Amino acid sequence: MIIKDVVCPFCGCLCDDLDVEVEGQKVIKVQNGCALAEAKFTGSGRLPAPIRRTPTGWDDVSYDDAIRETAEILVAADRPLLYGWSSTHGDAQSMGVHIAELIGGVIDNTSTVCHGPSILAIQEVGHPGCTLGQVKNRADVIVYWGCNPTEAHPRHMSRYTTFATGFFVPEAQKDRTVIVVDTRRTESAEIADEFIRIERGGDYEVLSALRAIVRGKGNVVPKMVAGVSREQLFRVAEICKKAKFGAIFFGLGLTMSAGKYKNVRNAIELTDELNRHTKFTISPLRGHGNVYGSNEVFTWITGYPYAVDFSRGIAFYNPGETTAVDILRRGECDAALIVASDPGAHFPHAAAAHLAKIPTVLIDPHMTATTPLCRIQIPCTIAGIDAEGTAYRMDGVPIRYRKVITSSYPDDADILKKIHDRIREVQGS
Ligand code: SF4
Repeated sequence: MIIKDVVCPFCGCLCDDLDVEVEGQKVIKVQNGCALAEAKFTGSGRLPAPIRRTPTGWDDVSYDDAIRETAEILVAADRPLLYGWSSTHGDAQSMGVHIAELIGGVIDNTSTVCHGPSILAIQEVGHPGCTLGQVKNRADVIVYWGCNPTEAHPRHMSRYTTFATGFFVPEAQKDRTVIVVDTRRTESAEIADEFIRIERGGDYEVLSALRAIVRGKGNVVPKMVAGVSREQLFRVAEICKKAKFGAIFFGLGLTMSAGKYKNVRNAIELTDELNRHTKFTISPLRGHGNVYGSNEVFTWITGYPYAVDFSRGIAFYNPGETTAVDILRRGECDAALIVASDPGAHFPHAAAAHLAKIPTVLIDPHMTATTPLCRIQIPCTIAGIDAEGTAYRMDGVPIRYRKVITSSYPDDADILKKIHDRIREVQGS
C-alpha cells in the first residue's frame, strides 16, 4: 500500500509530500524524501521492551514496573530535570510540562543547545519572519548564514528556495540569487552565487559592517572585516538592497559561535535596516522535527519557551541558570527524565557525565548515546511513523503527523500520562 502526502518528522522542514510504501506493519520504501527521511522511516534497531540497568548489564522489565519506578525516582528527587521533547508531538510535550509542574522540576527542550540564543534575541528585538510559502513564492534573494542546508535540511533548497519555482519566481535558480555566509566552504556554498567566507567568530563584525553599509555609513568600514573584503561587503549589501523580497536563514554557526544571541540580534537588526529599502525577512533553520513545537507548547502553558523552572511553585525562566546544561554542569540535578532527544550525543562532556551519576530515565524508541547513561529506558512509538500528533514546522506552521503503521509500542504521551498519574498517587493528591 502506498500512503500519499505523509509528513517527514525528521527535520524542521516537515516536508509533507512523501509517498510511503508500507507492507504489513513495515515501511519498505519512501519516495520524495531525502536520505535522512528514508533512514528515519525504514530504520531498524528499535528497543523491543523497557530495560533496567543491573550491576552486570540490562534486564527486561515490564512497562508497569518501568513507569512505577520512573514516578518514584522523580518524586524522590529534590531537583529533577525533564529534558528533550523535540522529536515527539505536542501531546507528549504538554504532558511533560504538567509532570514538571507537579514535581517542582525544571523542564527544558533541545533549543537550549541550538536556537535558544535566537529566542533570546527575538525576545529583545522581535522577529521579522514569514512562512516558507512566502519564501518559495516571493524570495529572489536568499541568504544562508552559518548553516548548511544541503546536508542538514536536504530539501530546504528544492522545496522553498534555490531550486523551487514560485509564483513570482517562476524560473527557480535563474530568478534567485543565493548568498552563503560561513567559516568554511560547505556543499551549500558550492551552490551559492556569492560565498562570503568569514573568520571564525567574525559574524558580529561582518553583520555590523553590512548594517553600516545599508544605513549609508559605509565610509566607516575598513578594507577587511573578519576576513571579508570591503568590496565584497558592498557588493552583497547592494544585492540585498535591490532584492524584491529577501529571506535570511541562519543556523548554529551564528547562534553557537562567539557572540551567540548578540549575533542573532545583529542579524535581525540588519534585516530591519534592509526593510528601509525593500522587503526582507529572517528565520532560524530549526533542526529537530518538532523543536519549534516544544517552544510553542511550553509557552502556551508556562509563558516561557524553554528552561522553565517550577521549583518556586510558579514558572520561572532564566537561561544560563535554568537551562539543562547549566543545571547538570553545576551538579544540581539529582534525577532526570529524557524524552525524544539524545543529550548523550549532544551535551558537553561534563553535563552528560552528570546524567550517568544520577538516576536517569530515557523514553525513546531506539538505543542511543544516552542509553549507557541511563538507569531505565522505556521504548515508545515514533511520532509521525507509528503515532500521529501535531508538530510545528520551522516557520511556526502547525502540521499534523500521520500514523503510517501500527505497532505494539505505547505512545510516549500515554507513558507520560501514566507517570503523571502515578506521581499524583504517590503524592496523595
Ligand atoms: S528535508 Fe527534512 S523534513 Fe524534508 S524529507 Fe528531508 S529530513 Fe525529512
